[in-house]
Amino acid sequence: MGEAGRHLAEIEASEGAAGNISVCMRWPIEPRTHFLVIDEIELPQPVPELAGATFLVTGSGRRLREIIDEPTASIACIVVNQDGEAGKLYTSHQRRFERVTSEFNSHLAVHYDQICSSGTNFHAVIHAQPVHLTYLSHIPRYQGEQYLNTHLLRWQPETIVNLPEGIGFIPFRIPSSPELMAANVESLRKHRIVIWAKHGVMARSDVSVKRAADRVEYAETAAKYEYINLCAGEIGEGLNTEEIRQICKTFNVQQNIF
Ligand SMILES: [Zn+2]
Repeated sequence: MGEAGRHLAEIEASEGAAGNISVCMRWPIEPRTHFLVIDEIELPQPVPELAGATFLVTGSGRRLREIIDEPTASIACIVVNQDGEAGKLYTSHQRRFERVTSEFNSHLAVHYDQICSSGTNFHAVIHAQPVHLTYLSHIPRYQGEQYLNTHLLRWQPETIVNLPEGIGFIPFRIPSSPELMAANVESLRKHRIVIWAKHGVMARSDVSVKRAADRVEYAETAAKYEYINLCAGEIGEGLNTEEIRQICKTFNVQQNIF
């Protein structure tokens, strides 16, 4: 979480205290080696299948780039009770936040949906605010997934390989709202990363936090190319449909964007 947080700041995807990170682990963990303060917390939604699971979640207002310096100042640990409706909140005496991130409802809902459908015992979710992706989401023609993906996934061969389902798109929703939460669950069933219009992105991985951060970086790099091309008067060709299909054939990538 620390390395991913620092890198997200390096690629200009986490200004100030923007962005948040969480992981869900379904193996037994002893939180009290790092988190000695214990409270009860009501969960944003019941998650009965995740009874006993452990979450590490960034605190509200903490900077992702500082997690690595003093993790327990920025991270809370939540262990879900047996009823699946509440949990034990473990924090450190070094904690420098009041509550966990206000986007925890979306994090929890996405973890729950993904874990119930795939059975994975580890899952990571990141919300970040990469500049170029977010800027493009303000331009009407990029607000449809087909236009967005055919334009962003054309600049480097790796992009379609790493994001074969493309990038999802959610119209503007109020931060932390139930509407944003529901839209995240829906879109992240089909995609590994989704744009929140006029706000940022959410990415997931069942491998590692850094893999989720990579997805933010691949999508943001694609957006950066697109932005450069717009500024240059759209003189770049991009990979054409035939070239992208050949790449997919060579690397055995299943996709239905091109
Ligand atoms: Zn945000």
